[in-house]
Amino acid sequence: MADGARAQQADVIVLGAGIVGVSVAYAARQRGLSVILIDRREPGSETSYGNAGVLSSGSILPLNQPSLWKLLPKYFANTHPALRWDPVWVLQNIDWVVRFLANATSSRVKPRAAALHGLIQASLKLHREWIVQADAAQRLRETGWLKVWRSAGGGAAAKAEQALLAAYGIRSELLDRQAISALEPGIVPVYQTGLLHTETASVDSPGNVVKAYARAFAGAGGQLRHSDIKMIAQAGDGWRVTLADGEVAARHVVVALGPWSAELLRPLGYRVPLATERGYHQEFKPNPSRTLHRPIHDSDGAFVMTPMQNGIRITTGVQLTARDAPSSFAQLEAAVPLARGVAEFGQAVGEPWRGARPTLPDSLPMIGPAPRHPKLWLAFGHQHIGFTTGPATGAAIAAMISGTQPPFDTAPFSPGRYL
Ligand SMILES: Cc1cc2nc3c(=O)[nH]c(=O)nc-3n(C[C@H](O)[C@H](O)[C@H](O)COP(=O)(O)OP(=O)(O)OC[C@H]3O[C@@H](n4cnc5c(N)ncnc54)[C@H](O)[C@@H]3O)c2cc1C
Repeated sequence: MADGARAQQADVIVLGAGIVGVSVAYAARQRGLSVILIDRREPGSETSYGNAGVLSSGSILPLNQPSLWKLLPKYFANTHPALRWDPVWVLQNIDWVVRFLANATSSRVKPRAAALHGLIQASLKLHREWIVQADAAQRLRETGWLKVWRSAGGGAAAKAEQALLAAYGIRSELLDRQAISALEPGIVPVYQTGLLHTETASVDSPGNVVKAYARAFAGAGGQLRHSDIKMIAQAGDGWRVTLADGEVAARHVVVALGPWSAELLRPLGYRVPLATERGYHQEFKPNPSRTLHRPIHDSDGAFVMTPMQNGIRITTGVQLTARDAPSSFAQLEAAVPLARGVAEFGQAVGEPWRGARPTLPDSLPMIGPAPRHPKLWLAFGHQHIGFTTGPATGAAIAAMISGTQPPFDTAPFSPGRYL
């Protein structure tokens, strides 16, 4: 920057306009702070675009729980639809894998479930308020989320899940084959057991919901800037952000770059153990006479099928590999015929999509201050539930910046646990 030229100034700069960054920006603006939100793409165009759109009340159990150990032999063959893994990536990142598995103990489950419950409850409340404020309430469906099992063993799994949810006051309904058909008459009755998460909602276009929240932010006086973010550095008692086309400065900076968050922090001396659990989706022309009414999670096939604005979206399980490794459509190719055996839908609409769930070894996001740099805030690592938990993450960061109480206990999400 030329001597004497001044960078654009604000109270807060938010880096990344996925659901998390947009939520931070909107919540900070609602507190009267001046906010610049920066992304190289339109808001909600990456991970926050391609997800299954489930606003999940019941996703309180981290993936790395004791039951994972029983599944490992099945995963080892590397053909399971729930998890494909890249052996080279695993060897290169064995530290991360060991830390992830070390969290899969019963003593490590309860505190994380309690933490996620607080985050999720606060977030669902905000989503339901914001979607109205953002004029996007027509996208919200209060029809629950249906998990279904084909196999006989599903009954026990569903009952165990229901009991666990009930322990946290989360309601669900156990369904048999007939009850599933009554709820979803358009699907073939292949499922023996279902569990309807009744307090879960969903949307018909997560990308458009994020765009609507971004418009609400702009409408409230927030600034949105399109640019490639190159670097952040301390300047005086605040921060300077170098962009492809200039610089911006602020008292506070928030890193909400989802799966791209770790690189930007490396020059500041932070080694963030952030892995990516990649996932895919493809959309198909719906049959109007055999519609789906809600997201359906096929537990045995490890996919979700859900009615979206542009068709039936099928989303896959996890591919554990480098964020930018070439796509491999094996899981999608396995899921689509299984889904076709249950729901009637036509040709593909558009190309398959690939995204990356940003994941820390304890499956909890980082929400809070960077330990060694004042006024640097971290908000990423939301794994499988970032679309659900973005708004409360935003509200918590905005509250911490303003020196007030966040809407849930943020201690378990402290970045200091890893940095
Ligand atoms: C297949 C799949 C299904 C899922 N289903 C669900 C679900 O049903 N419910 C749920 O709650 N969650 C779900 N998730 C998880 C959820 O999508 C993510 O946790 C969430 O979207 C993460 O949001 P984010 O804002 O952190 O990241 P992102 O949405 O990826 O946003 C990060 C932003 O940073 C920007 N960016 C990155 N680097 C730069 C740079 N250098 N300069 C400028 N901009 C930059 C990107 O353009 C992007 O817009 C799913 C994920 C996948 C992959």
